[in-house]
Amino acid sequence: MSKRKCKFTEVLRAKYPCFTSGRDDFDAKCSICDCHVDVGNKCTIALERHVAKEKHKKNIRAAGSASKVTNFFQPSTSLTLKNAHAAEGTLAFHTTPETMVRINCFLC
Ligand SMILES: [Zn+2]
Repeated sequence: MSKRKCKFTEVLRAKYPCFTSGRDDFDAKCSICDCHVDVGNKCTIALERHVAKEKHKKNIRAAGSASKVTNFFQPSTSLTLKNAHAAEGTLAFHTTPETMVRINCFLC
């Protein structure tokens, strides 16, 4: 007597976007909790149970409240960063002995 096992299919992946393919066809990995859920026997019930767990909900809240890296580091194309690099370059040009630099500063 063999029962047909449920596979983690594209339909389930679309319905539960927080899950990705797991270790095999009968396994799904929660990308939020970084844990594996066996869908082979319980299919969507296993996924629903995991999504309803307090640990999963807590991890979603934690991911939502975490600050993005771009809040701390500005993108390299920002005007402020370009101005800072221009100021550093100008300072380096004017502090280098004239014998080493035979060109004129185009900013001054
Ligand atoms: Zn989870």
